Amino acid sequence: MRYISYSDCSDNELYKMLFDRAPDNYGKYEQIVASIVDNVKNNGDKAIFEYGEKFDNVKLDEKSLKVTKEEIDEAYEQVDEELVEIIRRSKKRVKEYHEKQKKYSWFDSCDSGSIMGQKVTPIEKVGVYVPGGKAVYPSSVIMNVMPAKVAEVEQIVMVTPPDKDGKVNPVTLVAANECGVDEIYKVGGAQAVAALAFGTETIPKVYKIVGPGNIFVALAKKAVYGHVSIDSIAGPSEVLVIADESANPKYVAADLLSQAEHDELASAILVTDSDVLGKEVEKELIRQTDYLSRKDILEKSLNDFGAIVVVKSIDDAVKLSNMVAPEHLEICTKEPFMVLPKIKNAGAIFLGNYSPEPLGDYMAGPNHVLPTNGTAKFFSPLSVDDFIKKSSIISFDREALGELQEDIIKFANAEKLTAHANSIKVRFEND
Ligand code: NAD
Repeated sequence: MRYISYSDCSDNELYKMLFDRAPDNYGKYEQIVASIVDNVKNNGDKAIFEYGEKFDNVKLDEKSLKVTKEEIDEAYEQVDEELVEIIRRSKKRVKEYHEKQKKYSWFDSCDSGSIMGQKVTPIEKVGVYVPGGKAVYPSSVIMNVMPAKVAEVEQIVMVTPPDKDGKVNPVTLVAANECGVDEIYKVGGAQAVAALAFGTETIPKVYKIVGPGNIFVALAKKAVYGHVSIDSIAGPSEVLVIADESANPKYVAADLLSQAEHDELASAILVTDSDVLGKEVEKELIRQTDYLSRKDILEKSLNDFGAIVVVKSIDDAVKLSNMVAPEHLEICTKEPFMVLPKIKNAGAIFLGNYSPEPLGDYMAGPNHVLPTNGTAKFFSPLSVDDFIKKSSIISFDREALGELQEDIIKFANAEKLTAHANSIKVRFEND
């Protein structure tokens, strides 16, 4: 793990050193994804079944592609009752948090006879990709589905890859059922995204696709953007911890490791004004890595993309953090709420020694789908806003339009749009 003294480097050098994760080596996958998307667009279900055999080793047909009620009932029999209760508690907290984000239509009426406003409408059909592949992500189901439910999306279609026997992981099915997903299809990868974007004989077309996945999923979302909307292209996970000498090195190291275990490309960075803390965290990282199960991933991500950066002051740490715009930011200082107003760019901000990042992954309530790769400079976490759209409302009576007629006509004439001017004039020509 790199141990850097901030005064050693200029801002730009440091940024490059910490974040040169070269995610642009997408090129070789882009062609594969383009041909999958094209095939699904042209051949529908037939292409879905072909790719199921090729990539997931599974034989499916029109009848077995959709998850049945019996399969969901079976899933409940297989999942530990305690885990079902945890899923319910997590869902409840996520729902309550997102309800506070709801937007409502509004109308402003003026004395002069005009009404202007904004009509809020949920997106009608949304597709949620839930990764299957190597792990199980019931928390992803909750985080992607609940804001859509709160927004009152009418149709939520989930896709997720099955195993070679054509079964979807039971925990994923239970989470989907608890959250109120309407339909589930057994398909993964780029073909699943293409099916949602264009529709097939069996899988309905949706208007927006959300949810994380591997490189094939991410590039397919990029490829279909424009035909449908998407949430974002998620990059590898990141955490940046700002800590002073009051922080507990054991906790800080544990939180860095909790991000590093996601992925070999994940980035875990400590920025501190205390060299003593920095050295203690370094020792703790080695000690804790030794007993954790994903030791190989931890070592690789910490070595390649992890860092302990010692700066002169917490203000310098904030400056660096704002430059990085981390997906997750932990502030472990004596008075974290005094640091908070200075933070400009971060996906989620965790304050104090008892707000570790995994709390936000599962139970706190805020969404864990967050902007990565520095995009917190301009993007926000997934929210109810992602599942609504707004229409402007304009209603004038004759008198109110009359007050603005001259301005509109002059404006239209200045733009040489005589039909625009005429549309106003005809309403008042007999006056
Ligand atoms: P996945 O569901 O994303 O991908 C599996 C699918 O990839 C398969 O169904 C298959 O169709 C396709 N595929 C596999 N090899 C292929 C090939 N050679 N050519 C074409 N298609 C191929 O599952 P995964 O692979 O386990 O990846 C899950 C990803 O989701 C991980 O990168 C994980 O970090 C990420 N994730 C992110 C979050 C988040 O909130 N950011 C949450 C959960 C998971």
